[in-house]
Amino acid sequence: MDETTARPGEKQEIVIAGAGYAGLHAVLRLGAWLEDKHDEVGLTLVDRYNYHQILTELPRVAGGARPAEDVRVPLREVLDKRVTFVQATITGFDFAGRRLLTEADAIPYTRLVLALGSRPNDFGIPGLAERALTLWSVEDARKVLAAIDTQFASAVSADDRAEQARRMTVVIGGAGATGVELAGELAEELPDIARRHGLDPALARIILIDAGPTILAGSSPGLIDRANGILRDLGVEVRTNSRVARATEDGFVLLSGDTIRGGVFVWAGGVKASELVAGSGLPVGNNGRVKVDQYLRALDRPEVYVAGDLASVTDPETGRAYPPTAQVALAEGKTVATNLFAEIAGRPLEPFEYDSKGLVVSVGPRSGVADVAGRTIGGRLAHLLKDAIEWEYRQSVKHLRGWSAIG
Ligand SMILES: Cc1cc2nc3c(=O)[nH]c(=O)nc-3n(C[C@H](O)[C@H](O)[C@H](O)COP(=O)(O)OP(=O)(O)OC[C@H]3O[C@@H](n4cnc5c(N)ncnc54)[C@H](O)[C@@H]3O)c2cc1C
Repeated sequence: MDETTARPGEKQEIVIAGAGYAGLHAVLRLGAWLEDKHDEVGLTLVDRYNYHQILTELPRVAGGARPAEDVRVPLREVLDKRVTFVQATITGFDFAGRRLLTEADAIPYTRLVLALGSRPNDFGIPGLAERALTLWSVEDARKVLAAIDTQFASAVSADDRAEQARRMTVVIGGAGATGVELAGELAEELPDIARRHGLDPALARIILIDAGPTILAGSSPGLIDRANGILRDLGVEVRTNSRVARATEDGFVLLSGDTIRGGVFVWAGGVKASELVAGSGLPVGNNGRVKVDQYLRALDRPEVYVAGDLASVTDPETGRAYPPTAQVALAEGKTVATNLFAEIAGRPLEPFEYDSKGLVVSVGPRSGVADVAGRTIGGRLAHLLKDAIEWEYRQSVKHLRGWSAIG
């Protein structure tokens, strides 16, 4: 046994910070494995919300295809009775005193799991935070839809067609999976919203811009080609090699000097780690993510596990950190649960290993692209695959605890 691990039978207070993909699955697994045994172990989950958000479905909420309630999973319906849930905003850490600090009481722990996810990264681009909306919560998704509705409503009384068209243009910065999925969803919805306001649907535009040379950077050329084709068919205007230098009242001003004008601006250009870890003393790497050992424990803090977007875990094949995805977060949540249980049972810890299942991106409500099992597919099948992944995810929550509220 590693000298830093707990002794079996020792009193343990495990506190999991964050009920996202990594944190929820870690707590569900631990609850299921502990069953009614191990009275010496306390299990607490802390989140600012009393629900889990299926973030991967936010583009559909923003496009109006899905009600917000469908992608919020009430935690009381899924947690094991031995889990104490604390709804509170976490404000910091007292690592020396082993306490998680919240806006309410401090919560003592013997083992802490940090699974606080990430937040949009504006890369310090002037004006961006004020000018653009983001898509990182159900509330954000509602705001995007509401902003579109407000702009379209105001377009009705615009002085001329050019001004009407400007207000009916949605500009999305960042053509990674989130930007592409949002563009695809909106492409189908904007004409309907225009009609509802008695506007000419042909004036509705979506402009998807990216600083890099392609959309979906890092994906296979075949997948990128197909996604570009679907976006073209949907009428989305893609502008690559277009770095945003600043955002003003007029719109996104590019490095080239061009200004992309529009009515609604959404930033999906990247993520960075929760602000709480900066200055906390935990060693951080790229984008403020916490550096961990092979068991997913923070370096120099073996009593603190880190999982999900917040953890910087190096892919031995590429030498780069694994991307911040739900797929990686779930795998890390599982390893953290395994290792916490190993500590309780007096077994050796398991190193984290990751086997990617591939990439699936929906592009519009009926189509998509996917790289799976060494094959690139596009069209309806890829979209069905995306739906199947969501179904499987909801089943995994149900399987571990019994939740079955599928919207
Ligand atoms: C629009 C969108 C689409 C995406 N699509 C995909 C996709 O198709 N496939 C994919 O694999 N990944 C996708 N991702 C990425 C994926 O959602 C993240 O990688 C994943 O959510 C990371 O899981 P996590 O557990 O680290 O963090 P999260 O799921 O973000 O959970 C973090 C939790 O911590 C809580 N929290 C944070 N700070 C505090 C605080 N101070 N106090 C209290 N609680 C706090 C939050 O409320 C949240 O519940 C998408 C992300 C977005 C935004």
